[in-house]
Amino acid sequence: MESLMRNAFLFLSKNRTANRTAKKYGLRFGAKRFVAGEQISEAITAVRELNDRGIVVTLDHLGEFISTTDEAVESMKYCIRTLDEIAASGVKANLSLKLTQLGLDISRDLCLSNMRSILEAASRYDNFVRIDMEDYAHNEASIELFCQLREEFGSTIGLVIQAYLYKSEEDITKLHRYQPNLRLVKGAYKEPPEVAFPKKEDVDNNYIRIIEQHLKNGDYAAIATHDDNIINSVKTFVKANNIPLSQFEFQMLYGIRTQAQQQLADEGYTMRVYVPYGDDWYGYFMRRLAERPANVGFVVKSMFKS
Ligand code: FAD
Repeated sequence: MESLMRNAFLFLSKNRTANRTAKKYGLRFGAKRFVAGEQISEAITAVRELNDRGIVVTLDHLGEFISTTDEAVESMKYCIRTLDEIAASGVKANLSLKLTQLGLDISRDLCLSNMRSILEAASRYDNFVRIDMEDYAHNEASIELFCQLREEFGSTIGLVIQAYLYKSEEDITKLHRYQPNLRLVKGAYKEPPEVAFPKKEDVDNNYIRIIEQHLKNGDYAAIATHDDNIINSVKTFVKANNIPLSQFEFQMLYGIRTQAQQQLADEGYTMRVYVPYGDDWYGYFMRRLAERPANVGFVVKSMFKS
């Protein structure tokens, strides 16, 4: 049943008509729990509240189904505007983005040029930009673009590696020459067994393996998970191997396990919350429901409230 619901939500997340309709009607059906707002001002307010509690942020201006150059350029401008607002307000936040938002499916050159504009702004502000990792079809192109931009912009840029992919251990070995700042995640997309571990247990084991590999390499890790088993295993590993607190951070999503977020921050770990905002919230919201169909109960309740 749970796997059926997961597939249904992942299917719905790709529905363009539903996406367009959702945009018209604004944040609904409990999406506000996972999305900070439609406007940058609302996002900055959410960041400030988190900062006040000792939690730092990565902001994501949501965008799905980019199919024209104009849309990709518009998206690039939103990213720069987000960096401008972070600098102007003085909040502690960096930026996360997706390469398809910036035109990766239209042309590599368009995407590269948009990324350069964003990274120039980030460098000016001494800030940091992380490329989120999308589905397997975009994996190699994302890694390749990251390598080029890392050479041009140094430590201003970071990437994400997904534990469910068989290739990730090898990717981390290859990427080590760049001393990359990597966010390590389990992986959020539906991938076939030809490329990804089908069993959760194998994903979890590989996740721990690549976290330890990356930390032992001496490179910076953003460990993005809500899973206590993984978090506890990281805590034990860093203690046993004298990994300094400055070499890693924990990350969680806005609205998910907020008490656990606070507890990690209070324990002295760097805790960064991924805060999405914008009117293109529908696909992101559906993917969050796919991850945890138990949240559907909460959504149904909020439908009756609104
Ligand atoms: P799971 O195995 O899903 O869950 C483990 C346990 O965590 C659960 O048993 C439960 O106790 C708790 N939990 C999980 N979800 C919830 C919830 N909604 N409410 C309450 N408890 C919960 N994926 C990508 O493919 N690319 C990315 O770029 C990417 N970036 C991410 C950035 C951040 C900051 C985070 C946190 C995740 C990101 N992900 C990304 C998603 C990631 O790949 C997983 O799909 C997602 O984090 C769920 O896996 P999990 O590690 O939390 O563990």
